[in-house]
Amino acid sequence: MLEVTDLHVRYGAVHAVRGVSFSVADGELVTLLGANGAGKSSSILCVAGAIKASSGRIVLDGKDVTNATPESMVRSGVATVPETRDVFPDLTVDQNLTLGAYLRRRDRDGVRRDRERMFDMFPRLKERIEQPAGTLSGGEQQMLVVARALMSRPRVLLLDEPSLGLAPAIVDQIFEMIAGLKAEKLTILLVEQNARKALQVADRAYVLRLGQIAVSGSAQEIAASSDLDALYLGG
Ligand code: ATP
Repeated sequence: MLEVTDLHVRYGAVHAVRGVSFSVADGELVTLLGANGAGKSSSILCVAGAIKASSGRIVLDGKDVTNATPESMVRSGVATVPETRDVFPDLTVDQNLTLGAYLRRRDRDGVRRDRERMFDMFPRLKERIEQPAGTLSGGEQQMLVVARALMSRPRVLLLDEPSLGLAPAIVDQIFEMIAGLKAEKLTILLVEQNARKALQVADRAYVLRLGQIAVSGSAQEIAASSDLDALYLGG
């Protein structure tokens, strides 16, 4: 479904992504792992259309989408939850959700049904429906940005470090939610520093080191490999 080939990303003199190739099949959950600065966020943001590739190819369902705009990626069915977890702080939970369906605003009935579905999936958000999003806890904000992304009815969900900075109990809830989305056959690309947790939910994994793929394989194989910590820590 999604195929990235020989991707390079440069920020001025910094060559952050150096020839990365990976794929995500329909309904698959693939995780990109690696230490700080390995190039995970740059890779996922390139797929989202948020930053430009300096070279390489990104193909979605056989169509070349390299350096497409973020809006056209959403229209193509790719929704992104960035690491920055950026809710609209002064808008309510409900208003934030509605904005996620911005490109579907003519489909009023569908949007209404999906809003109900999100509140079923995330009861904590339902309890806080009129609360300004900026006053939610970190974990609740993470749930909201995921729910907002799902309101675009994506076929592919890009998740950048969803567990970052959250308390362990909340991290468990986030991974339960990801497992639930996978069970619904959503195609997911998950960037994580929490390698052990990510490998528990993923089908396959790629470990990045210094902008390149150091290892890839099934999540089970990668989890069982004794040098995971060395790879993950860049050692
Ligand atoms: P982290 O887990 O810390 O987010 P990461 O694996 O996601 O790390 P990236 O954020 O993709 O890594 O960063 C890869 C490299 O690119 C790093 O050396 C980083 O400093 C650099 N980099 C990222 N964004 C920029 C930018 N806007 N300008 C310059 N350099 C950047």
